[in-house]
Amino acid sequence: MRSTRFRTRLLSYFWLILIISLGMPAYYIYHALEKEILDEQTQNAFSELDLVQWLINEHAPFEDARQFNEWCAELGKKLNYRITIISANGRVVADSSIPFDEIQNLENHADRVEFIGARQRGQASSIRYSVTVKRKLIYAAKAFEAPNIAQGVLRVAIPLSLVESRLAYFAHRFWFILMFFLVITGILNYILARNMEAPIQKIIQSLRSIGDGKYDEYVDIDSGFEFFELSAGINEMTHKIRQNIAMISQQKLELEAVLEGMQEGVMLLDADGKIKTSNEALSLLARCVPTCVGHRPLEVFLTPEIQAACDAVLKGEPHVQLRVAIDAETIYEVNVVSIPSGGAVAVFHDISELIRLEKVRQDFVANVSHELRTPLTSIKGYAETLLDKKMNLSETAEKFLQTILKNANQMSNIVNDLLELTKLQQKDQQHLNLSPVNAINCFNAAWETCLPMAMDKGIHLENKLPDSVMIIAEENALIQVFRNLLDNAIRHSDPNTTITVFLGSKNGKMLFGIQDEGPGIPKRHQKRIFERFYRVDKERSRASGGTGLGLAICRHAVLGMGGEIWVESPPDQKENGSVFYLTLYKS
Ligand code: ADP
Repeated sequence: MRSTRFRTRLLSYFWLILIISLGMPAYYIYHALEKEILDEQTQNAFSELDLVQWLINEHAPFEDARQFNEWCAELGKKLNYRITIISANGRVVADSSIPFDEIQNLENHADRVEFIGARQRGQASSIRYSVTVKRKLIYAAKAFEAPNIAQGVLRVAIPLSLVESRLAYFAHRFWFILMFFLVITGILNYILARNMEAPIQKIIQSLRSIGDGKYDEYVDIDSGFEFFELSAGINEMTHKIRQNIAMISQQKLELEAVLEGMQEGVMLLDADGKIKTSNEALSLLARCVPTCVGHRPLEVFLTPEIQAACDAVLKGEPHVQLRVAIDAETIYEVNVVSIPSGGAVAVFHDISELIRLEKVRQDFVANVSHELRTPLTSIKGYAETLLDKKMNLSETAEKFLQTILKNANQMSNIVNDLLELTKLQQKDQQHLNLSPVNAINCFNAAWETCLPMAMDKGIHLENKLPDSVMIIAEENALIQVFRNLLDNAIRHSDPNTTITVFLGSKNGKMLFGIQDEGPGIPKRHQKRIFERFYRVDKERSRASGGTGLGLAICRHAVLGMGGEIWVESPPDQKENGSVFYLTLYKS
């Protein structure tokens, strides 16, 4: 049907409607006419029967049966139909179309419909094919009585040729009219289809042009309301497409301008992991000649880490961040994010300057701390010497000297912690020197340094640790972490309380917990206490000898060893106190 031409389909429908609309009435008329002609012919046959009966009666008496049969044959020839006289028992007495000698050979007619009807009702008719004369006939029969001849049924048989010729004439006329209309509708259909096809062809042409991207195409058809509406609709559609394309082009240009204006390198990967789009900054950093498009990130950057990050995101990871050194001087922070419709986008942010500034800051802090160390040692030394030698100092001078010594010690602690923190930060960036260590030994070493202070305050240690726990760490850093946590726990606890240390596991790592019965840390401060110089109660912390750097050092050291550190305060099912947790990899 799809390949049939519109014109052919239209003609088929036309003709189908025509054949149905002419054929059905014609069929009805044909049968009505046939019935009417047959009725008329039957009536005629009965009239002829009356005539034959009268003629027989007029002509009687006959010499014998032979003469009667010859007379019937002559009459039948003249009237042009068959006359049969049948006796009451069905035997043929005379027949106009059969010679007398052959009459006794004829089969008995007692079973003929018209014979039975005539015997029962006086007269009857039937239409059927005659084997004797080999044609279709109308039989009309009536009861008959002729003295000396026969008593039974008189029958005439009129050929149906008249009926057939009249019906054939009607059929001829009908076929002629039908053919005439078929030809006329064929011509009309051709003209109509041509007129309708022209605008349709025009619309098809226009739609093909639009499909080829020619959105300036304007369809102008004036072939009736529907076609006008259709062309108006197409023109409106192309107008909207033009507008949308202009808008998308504008947005694309703006996006390109933004991308090109960015200092960060940006690349868009398709679902196969090949670069689809990249901006100028990325081309420069990757030194793509002439283009990065169509290549894989590994081919462009020769850095397996970037390729691995892109592969991870393409396989379903929502976001991967990494730092890579593209060359000796430049370090980039690369953020790879997945795109919901498939593919990924990677943004390269040059953080070399940030890292340089951080290094400057660290160096500055380290240098200042280092430079302060010598004068501080000197101040501490002289103050201690003056106090030791009891050089006839007045009470006020001694008090002043003790204040100087106390502050110099505090300052020295800060300087030492600052140097420690800087050292850890620098190590953190290049990774700590990790190896399998026994964490229990580290803890015991830390506790030993804190023991005097704990004893001073009457603080008892409940050690729930086993004898040996092998983990991956840097020994000194771990001792420092335990020392800072124990130092805090002792300093912030009330005298004669207990510090508990215990072991567990979390996410496949070893978990250490150091719990005290001190005042605890309010929830709002818990996140910030790991920042440098952040204290919950500044005065109290300073008075207790804190530097504000202990937990910052712990955090850097633990992160550097691949672990995590956090606080829970108050601990589960307790009203006060805190528990500091840290996790580290098992050895
Ligand atoms: P500081 O030397 O002042 O203790 P830290 O970095 O070690 O500095 O700790 C930061 C702050 O966290 C402290 O000033 C203190 O307010 C709080 N803190 C740390 N440990 C405890 C603890 N065990 N109990 C209560 N508060 C604590």
